[in-house]
This record gives sequence, structure tokens and C-alpha cells, in this order.
Amino acid sequence: MISSQNITNTSKFHFGMFIADEEEMLIEELMKNLKTRGDPGFIAGVLRLIKKKLKNFSEKLQTGISKDLCKDGKVIFGPFLSTRLGVCLGINNVKSKACTYNCIYCKSGNTSCCSICCNTCLNAWNLASCVRRKISDLQKEGVSIDCVAFMPDGEASLDSNIGQKIQLIKGLGVKTAVFTNASLLWNYNVQQNLLSADNVIVKIDTVNAETWGKINRPHLRLNLDLILESVREFASQFRGELTTETVIVDGYNDDFEEIKNLGEYFASLNTVASDFSFVDNSKIVGKKVTDPMIHLNLTDMIKRRIPGAVILGCQQANYYQAAAS
Ligand code: SF4
Repeated sequence: MISSQNITNTSKFHFGMFIADEEEMLIEELMKNLKTRGDPGFIAGVLRLIKKKLKNFSEKLQTGISKDLCKDGKVIFGPFLSTRLGVCLGINNVKSKACTYNCIYCKSGNTSCCSICCNTCLNAWNLASCVRRKISDLQKEGVSIDCVAFMPDGEASLDSNIGQKIQLIKGLGVKTAVFTNASLLWNYNVQQNLLSADNVIVKIDTVNAETWGKINRPHLRLNLDLILESVREFASQFRGELTTETVIVDGYNDDFEEIKNLGEYFASLNTVASDFSFVDNSKIVGKKVTDPMIHLNLTDMIKRRIPGAVILGCQQANYYQAAAS
């Protein structure tokens, strides 16, 4: 049987770390009175105090966790400006380079784990807590966040809890966006997860399986036809804004046939836009930097063949923006 003395000792043992001296004395006093008078009012008083202290402790712990996880900008980065999404915070929600593809132009280098298994970093509550804190810190500096974008150094949909994360972040009053290579959209749970986002940006570099194998170097269990069909299915259900994103790589997906087939496929998706960019060839081993005129001609062809095509510029190549306007 637990005596009052034991209750006092147990309470001190568990809560002594965060109960201030003054409050500890108060509890001792209450316990002493409880023993001598057996007054139920004292029990209620002690319980109320312990409950209050536990709540404070939990909040302090949460803030501590957020501080740790937010540091270095590893999980949350930004803010940065996106022409379509506004002022954004970026979320790195999977382990670095965990991806179902191993694209030849990937800025993250070779994928360390070409996996289709779940490979997440943070649970939904910790992430939402970090984001809330970051948004509030930025608000104090006069910066207002429009959108939180899941855009990790890997494949965002590998995170099987991304749906819950999206819901919690939407609850903070901001829009959400997910950048995905779409390779797992045939999976029912992945589709359901992404349906809750406000914006989904799907990477589709080609609709030709051979070219896909060469550029995106997918996981062996993936199938391009299945992926393209699942993107169509997703597009028919999605109530947010769907955008496609294509990287053109010289010598792989830059001919008339490739662009024509992409255009026909994109026309079946009802997207708000189709973004195109050209890979910086100097980043690919054994490739020479491309003559800008080749990209100018390609830009013309893309604009003519694909309605809603947007050619994204880069700092080193203003001519893309000039040609697209
Ligand atoms: S899909 Fe993105 S993260 Fe994955 S390998 Fe390709 S470029 Fe890298």
C-alpha cells in the first residue's frame, strides 16, 4: 500500500527537476496537512498544482525539441521567394538523398539509398511545432509566410506521414506544396497523402521508358506506364493546383518527338502550368556546356508545342527568360 509519505517522496522524485523550491515547499506543507487532517481539499490542491506544473514542463520540453530540430536549417530552410507560391519555407522531410530515382543531373549527387521504403526524419508533431516557431519568429521580423513547401534532397512522398504533416501545417494558416517525382503515386496511400496539399508539382522529364531509364535511372521495381497513369488518376481527383516540372537534358529528351509526346501527355492532366528548365551540362560528367542558341531554339519549340509552358531561367542564363516572354 502507498502511504502519504511515499506519495510525497514519489512526487518529489518524479517532479523535483522542474518544481521550484517555493512550490515544492507548498506541496510538502499540503502533504503534511493531508496526513494530519485527511482533508480531500488538500488532495485536490496538490493534484491541481502537479497538473499545472506538468503542463508547463511539457511546453518547455516542446520548445526545447523545436529549438534543436530547427537549428542549422537542415529540416526547415528559407524563407525564399517563389513566383508561383509566394514567400515560402522549405521542408526537408526525408533523409538526405533518399530517393526512388537517381537522376543524372541530381544536385544532391548519387542517391545514397535508392529505396522505395519509408525514410522519414521527423514526426508530424515535431515538424509542425518547428514550423510554427519559425513562422512566428519571422512574423516578429515582419516576414509573412504564404506557403510551406516539401522539397527535400530526395523524394518527398517516401515520408509515409506526409499527409498528417500537411494537415497540421495547413492548420497554421499557410498553404502547402509538395514537389515530387511522382514515382510512387500508383500507391493508394501516397495519393491520399498528396491530395491534401494545396499545390503539387510533379517531375516528369519524359514519357518514353527508354529515355526515362537513362535520365532518371529509377528503382528497378518502378514502371513508367503505371506512374503516368497514376498521375492522370491523381490529376482527376486533385482539387488544388497541379504543375508539371521537366528538366531538359541535351541528347536525351531534347528532340521534337520527346517534346511533342510530353505536350500530348500534359494536355490530359489539366495542369495550371508546365515548367521547363535546362540542365547545366557542366554538372554532368563527360558533357560539354551547351551552346545557348540550342536552348533558345528548344525554348521556341516547347512554347509552340505545349500550352501553358513556362521556361524557368537561371542566374547564368538570362536569355531563357527573354525567349519565354
Ligand atoms: S528525383 Fe530529384 S532528388 Fe531524386 S534523384 Fe532526381 S533530382 Fe535527385
